[in-house]
Amino acid sequence: LLALNTIHMAWKCGGGSNAALIENMWKARLLTNSDIRTVLLAQDRKCYTKQGAAAYEDSPQQIGWNITISAPHMHAMALEKLHDRLRPGMTALDVGSGSGYLSVAMAALVGPGGRTVGIDHIHDLVAWSRENVVRDGKKPLLDSGQLVIEVADGFGGYAPGAPYDCIHVGAAPERTPEALKQQLKPNGVLVLPVGPAGDQAFVRITRSADGASWREERLMGVRYVPLTSATAQLDGIRDHQGPASDRKSPRLNSSHPSRPRMPSSA
Ligand code: SAH
Repeated sequence: LLALNTIHMAWKCGGGSNAALIENMWKARLLTNSDIRTVLLAQDRKCYTKQGAAAYEDSPQQIGWNITISAPHMHAMALEKLHDRLRPGMTALDVGSGSGYLSVAMAALVGPGGRTVGIDHIHDLVAWSRENVVRDGKKPLLDSGQLVIEVADGFGGYAPGAPYDCIHVGAAPERTPEALKQQLKPNGVLVLPVGPAGDQAFVRITRSADGASWREERLMGVRYVPLTSATAQLDGIRDHQGPASDRKSPRLNSSHPSRPRMPSSA
């Protein structure tokens, strides 16, 4: 019931402006951390979308390349789960950086002494996301290297910037890629959706202080686009990791990130 209430609120809490969107999420307690609120107020979601005023709805928006920018409450949730590993001076990786919106928020939180790397596997999407960052008045983040957005395959993480205090993944692999776990610092945190379409969980994985082990917590059920190959994504194949007989649905866009379903642990 609690989770269902949360879903209901999520879909009522859009706004006519970026400030209204963020304030409504704050009032609905979908956003509870004031540092994150400050950062989200200072970036305009419209600069990372293609659909004008719909940018301020609490829903995913199609941005091309068969993907969507995640819903605002999912961005807020991911940032809150990572907040103690997004402190000033820390290093962060955003896998499947898409529009660039979340990477910018992560870069703002780690500050000028920190560094955030966003990676995505579609070349033109990475170029567009850099333009979005500039359009949002955040060019200094790119110029200083506080934010770097590169073309790379998320299954391999991004070794040149490793190790990371935290890693966020914006698309769901069927199993957690080992490279991402290995690229965490001791005490580092990885959050990602994992599982096949229709049976995904949002999971938090914390590396131990001695670096030797990883603790995994299932946070809630979710729906994300798959972490996949660029070809499969651009062809609109829903899940290239599944058997060919499962590849009939081209509706990748509608399977995107989304409202939390009932948390399994609730
Ligand atoms: N968090 C982003 C995008 C979410 S959509 C936003 O809100 O804008 C998921 C993203 O993952 C897409 O941009 C897609 O291109 C990317 N992606 C999917 N498979 C990938 C892979 N193997 N490597 C890198 N990026 C991938």
